[in-house]
Amino acid sequence: MPNGADDCVQLGPQGWTSCQSGEHVAVYGPVHGQIIGKVHAFSREEVDQAIGRLQEGFQSWKRMLLTERAQLLHQWADKLEANRAELAELLMLEIAKNHRDSLDEVQRSADFIHYTAEEGLRLAGETLFGDAFPGQTRQKVSIVGRVPLGVVLAIPPFNYPINLAVTKIAPALMGGNVVVLKPPTQGAIAGLNITRLAYEAGIPDNVIIAITGSGRVIGDYLISHPRVNMINFTGSTQTGQHIASKAIMVPLLLELGGKDAAIVLADANIERARDNIVSGAFSYSGQRCTAVKRVLVVEEIADQLATAVAQKVMTLSVGAPEADSVVTPLISNEAADFVWDMIHEAVAQGAVALTPLRREGNLIYPVVLDFVTRDMRVAWEEPFGPVLPIIRIHDAEEGVELANASEYGLQGAIFTQDVSQAFLLAEELDVGTVQINGKTSRGPDHFPFVGTKASGMGAQGVRYSLLAMTRLKSTVLNL
Ligand code: NAD
Repeated sequence: MPNGADDCVQLGPQGWTSCQSGEHVAVYGPVHGQIIGKVHAFSREEVDQAIGRLQEGFQSWKRMLLTERAQLLHQWADKLEANRAELAELLMLEIAKNHRDSLDEVQRSADFIHYTAEEGLRLAGETLFGDAFPGQTRQKVSIVGRVPLGVVLAIPPFNYPINLAVTKIAPALMGGNVVVLKPPTQGAIAGLNITRLAYEAGIPDNVIIAITGSGRVIGDYLISHPRVNMINFTGSTQTGQHIASKAIMVPLLLELGGKDAAIVLADANIERARDNIVSGAFSYSGQRCTAVKRVLVVEEIADQLATAVAQKVMTLSVGAPEADSVVTPLISNEAADFVWDMIHEAVAQGAVALTPLRREGNLIYPVVLDFVTRDMRVAWEEPFGPVLPIIRIHDAEEGVELANASEYGLQGAIFTQDVSQAFLLAEELDVGTVQINGKTSRGPDHFPFVGTKASGMGAQGVRYSLLAMTRLKSTVLNL
């Protein structure tokens, strides 16, 4: 039976293996396609047992002093920091993230937990007096506070299996909830390890439980489970929409796909735009929701910018995660096929590749495509890989129109030295966040992170996540 503390993970002869007996799901490493571990495949009965244990844990967790919950979270963050090197090794193996970025992901997660533990102490309510409303008296007083929701289902994607788990779990726990973590299959070993570290830090094993297994068996079962009280999901729009259609009357916090545009105007600082666009588009091989996924550049400077971007891209390191390469193998061969097809389709339709088209297995060398037009798939779809389409525009208005024509609305960037114009354009962009003279990216993590349209529902960010994972409760005194 999955019972928290026993849900350990050990390094054995076959790699990482969940200690639980029974069915297992293999985890494949993206670099050589080898099995790097096996995680327990929960059955539906085991899911029910786990959620039952969480409901028991909820009763004492929600009553624990806030300062004590905060202390346990600080201890968890300390554990992550102390195990930073080991966790980073896992990220390199499981998802082929380079060493530096893997270390950063762990550190950022620890920092997030510390910040959340502090911020959670400051969630205050308010007192309302009845006489502010016509016909009422001061004898009615509402004490408005925030209370937990119950069992929160946290589902992170493969690309940040530690950070996007922690940014759900920490605010949920600080808000008094208990958590089912359903990690992605590639990222499951990392997910089990951060859960193990939570237990080692003193967080009870009936307050957070990681449930691994086959999506077919437990995916839909979990998202429509009657004892799940809230779902916090990050992943593709397709899966997010599926979850929204299956969930039964529970609050949803969904962070989904994106097609972030960088609009570059004639007076932009070209070097600054180039550097931001290249790192924004290609770090972790473009497998980031907020990656720059298209450049919309005005004709006057398009040749200059395209050349500068392509030259910089040619200097990017490509290869193994251990070598700190910027571009590493994509998460799977299927993902690489998807990106590769999109590139070739665009070239067949007239796009011009400014960098060599080169692929070795699921490692795709970074590609800059110039002269991309509206009729090409790469202009609209999210490749989640190292390809950057450049679309030439007449003016800023066309840039805004093209940016807004996307089904997505995560972020947008505007490069210009005229900050007043940038501000006015930012008001027109139908996205959650606009970056002026900077790449699209998430963070700092206390900023709100919001997606519009097919990019999501609700706001994340330390304080925003705490609010989303608690609800208002009014207790009225009738004096
Ligand atoms: P995905 O949608 O394939 O999977 C995400 C998670 O959902 C995984 O843990 C997966 O196992 C789980 N899942 C799949 N089907 C499920 C079901 N029926 N029930 C329950 N869980 C289910 O996404 P991915 O390939 O892991 O991640 C890439 C996508 O995530 C991209 O579209 C990217 O833009 C998006 N993303 C968005 C953000 C954001 O903050 N907006 C951040 C990172 C990634």
